Parts: sequence; structure tokens; C-alpha cells
Amino acid sequence: MKRLLAAIGLLSTGFSAQSHEYLSLDELGSAFGWDFENAEIKSQAVAPGLYVLFGVGGNVMASIGDQGVLMVDSQFPEMIPRISRKINELGGDKIDFTINTHWHFDHANGNPLLGREGTWMVSHIKSRRMMAGAHEVNLVGMVYEQPPLPIEAMPVITYTDDMQFHFNGELVELLHFGPAHTTGDTAVIFRNSNVVHMGDVFNASYPFIDAGNGGDLNGMIRFCREVLARLDEDSVVVPGHGPVLGYSDMEQYVLMLETVRNRINTMIGRGMSLEDVIAAKPTAEFDEKYGNPARLIDRGYMSLSR
Ligand SMILES: [Zn+2]
Repeated sequence: MKRLLAAIGLLSTGFSAQSHEYLSLDELGSAFGWDFENAEIKSQAVAPGLYVLFGVGGNVMASIGDQGVLMVDSQFPEMIPRISRKINELGGDKIDFTINTHWHFDHANGNPLLGREGTWMVSHIKSRRMMAGAHEVNLVGMVYEQPPLPIEAMPVITYTDDMQFHFNGELVELLHFGPAHTTGDTAVIFRNSNVVHMGDVFNASYPFIDAGNGGDLNGMIRFCREVLARLDEDSVVVPGHGPVLGYSDMEQYVLMLETVRNRINTMIGRGMSLEDVIAAKPTAEFDEKYGNPARLIDRGYMSLSR
């Protein structure tokens, strides 16, 4: 508890990227307000047989049809029985495939339970590599050391540039465009339904960039631009966290990131320290829409300073 309070204290005073006080997952959960005991899975249909499932952690998607169930991301082990029940309610049976958009705990920690039930996990090769080891995730003001996933939780199928599923009458495109939120992000386009799951490359609030593990602000912008070029104005865009959004929301988000990136770059060019950049409020006019910019500025500054 003392460590948690310390972390919240660090959070309120701003930026302590140097802190190496690790938080446990429970402490992290308390800090983020996760309620594993009472959280229910809510579903939203985005196309026939295609659903977004909201619980605790990253947004999950499920394609449910004649050939079975293909899921995107797995949240936490506590949520898996509830996700499975919801999928059954929606007409699905067992989960055949789960695509992990990336290796972070709030998108992949449900994998061990799925693996034991016979689900095949799929990810970008660099995400699988990260899942195999222990890694510090510096969330700015709090640091979590993510342990390696057990073998049954690991993707059995990986790809490098792109990959396709042909499942439930749908072309499912897995796309990767280099380092962005992490080094192994995947966008999943359900082509026939015109829906994309962006993982944490796109969020309803300011994004977190895992710069300590190779994440990159310029890369996030490039990744979003590449995906937008493969969508149209009617596309449904599912962010890693937050409500279901659309093409213009992601377009505005990229413009925001480009504006903030250009400002921070200029400030770095003038020799400004992180503290100076924070004080100069490079995100000011976007804060009402996207929330607290602390993580974006800290991790953006780090990735642009390299
Ligand atoms: Zn993430």
C-alpha cells in the first residue's frame, strides 16, 4: 500500500521516469480503478457477427460465425470466463483464434487460460519475442515489470509484414508498420465489415508510447497514416481503450499527434529540458478532449530525443 501511495504521489507531482519502484498488478489495478471482481462484459455489435467486448483492460473484438470464433486481445485471466460466457450468449462456442494486437499485460494476460482451452494465439513476431521475456513498462510515475508469459500463452503463429485470415466469410488483414506504441503492434482490419481494431496505436484519450521498449511517436503517426490510407470515411475504428469511434476521429487524432510532435521537436531543437517542455504545455488546446497529457509528453520527448 505504501508503494502504491508513493506511486500516486509521484503521479500527482508529475514525472518520475527514473523511479524503479515496481508496482504489482494489484497495485496497478488500484491506481487505474480496475474492478476485477465486479466487472461485467458489455458487448456492442459493429457488424453482423462482429462484436466489441468491453471489460477490464484493452478492448476485445470477437468474430462469431459458422467457422468458429476469432478474437482480438485477451484482457486479464479474471475476465476470460466472463468473455467466454458472453461469446456463448452471442452464439459462439469455443475461441479458436486470438490475435494479440501487442504484448502488453492488459491485452495479453488472458492468453494462458485461452491456451489451456486450445485457442491458437497469433501476433507480430516482435510481440511474441517480448512476451517471452520480462520487461519493464514505464508508465511514467509508475513502473510495472511484466513477467514472461508461460508457453501455453504464447502465439503459435507469427508474421513479419502482414498476414491474412479467411474466416467466417471475412477477409481479416493483420498489418504492421514498424515501431509505434510498441515494436510489435498489429492493426486488424475486418475488411468485409469495414472495421479495424487499432490496439493501443490509437486510443480515445492521449496515447501511451512504450518508448522504454522501442515505442516511437513518429512511428505512431506513420502507423496511423498507413492504416487510414487503407480505410474510408465509413470505416468503424476500435481503439485499444475507450468507445468505438470512426475514421474522422482517427484522422483528428493523427493531426493532434503531428501538431504535438512538431512542437516538442522544435523545443528539443532549442535545447529545452523535459521539465521546460512540460511547462510550455505543448498539448494545451487538446487537453479538454484527450485528457492528461503527462504520459504522452514524457514518452514522446524520450522517443524524439533519441
Ligand atoms: Zn499497450
